[in-house]
Amino acid sequence: MEIKITRAETLKEKPESSKLVFGKSMTDHMFIVDYDEGQGWHDPRIVPYGPLLIDPAAKVLHYAEEIFEGLKAYRDAQGKIQLFRPLDNIDRMNKSAERLCMPQIPQDLALAGITELVKVERDWVPHEEGASLYIRPFMIGLDAQLGVHSSKHVQYVVVVCPVGAYYPEGLAPVKIFVEERDVRAVKGGTGMAKTGGNYAASLRAGHQAEQKGYSQVLWLDGVHRKYIEEVGAMNVMFKVAGKILTPDLNGSVLDGITRRSCLQLLRDWGYEVEERRISAEELFQAAENGTLEEAWGTGTAAVISPIGELAMGEKKVSINHNQIGEVTRKLYDQLTGIQWGRVADPHNWIMPL
Ligand SMILES: *Cc1c(COP(=O)(O)O)cnc(C)c1O
Repeated sequence: MEIKITRAETLKEKPESSKLVFGKSMTDHMFIVDYDEGQGWHDPRIVPYGPLLIDPAAKVLHYAEEIFEGLKAYRDAQGKIQLFRPLDNIDRMNKSAERLCMPQIPQDLALAGITELVKVERDWVPHEEGASLYIRPFMIGLDAQLGVHSSKHVQYVVVVCPVGAYYPEGLAPVKIFVEERDVRAVKGGTGMAKTGGNYAASLRAGHQAEQKGYSQVLWLDGVHRKYIEEVGAMNVMFKVAGKILTPDLNGSVLDGITRRSCLQLLRDWGYEVEERRISAEELFQAAENGTLEEAWGTGTAAVISPIGELAMGEKKVSINHNQIGEVTRKLYDQLTGIQWGRVADPHNWIMPL
């Protein structure tokens, strides 16, 4: 399918990388392709960036018929642009689509939307160390009818924006609050799908954690309210007595691509990795007896986020004296090394543009 390109008449001024706020500086163009039942995907196009025209009765506005993805384009030392595991994002979007009864998008079409848009916006891919172009593909249900059904008219849209280094002052540990009242997702719900509704459900706890001085919440499972699941937009991992522990993909945890990549690297390095149910109690006990050695979050935005403090109710523990641990640092260096093309890529995770 040929992508029609309509260029913006005037181009925006590109912001300095050091002044970028995450997700605010959208570029000059966006990609859109329509889907209609009976016709399939049609009219892929790159058009000037701007508001979407949406009927006020569109399903996405009332019933959160929306799924999304997040990935990045990186510039290597030679100035070439590359993507990190983009097909994994597309496969995950199609899994989310299945859960929300939205149409499957062919891998080549979804990928072309990403690569052709990044090519048009190549001057927006930052050159500065640690900065990148964030890519946000999303799919929305647009049928203009208030009945609760899946839409017959859907759009897949891609927008991009330059983002600065997540930790401009260097990798810094974050404080995490274990949430005991609100839940993000339950098995059988939409926790394994990357869909806006999960985030709507997370806003209240996130807001309250921030007011208490914590950067994000650690969710517990919705049934027992005992087992840890994930943090905001990150999966979590712990090093306990030399072993790596992470919650298994039980249906309510998102299958993170950074998680997947970390587990592969850890196994390559010979660590014993356990993907299983982990109670908050087990972690606090490990902290008390001195075996909770490291904790970190994994996600595309921050790549690796060291966790320096964990709080639940009145209990509070600091991890590794609030310092970045050895494995945390090694994962960060290796993954960012692969993403920016500084180290070898033995698993073929990189796709040059
Ligand atoms: C996107 C996301 C993650 C991280 O996934 P990556 O593919 O590593 O970026 C983790 N949890 C949730 C809820 C997410 O939406």
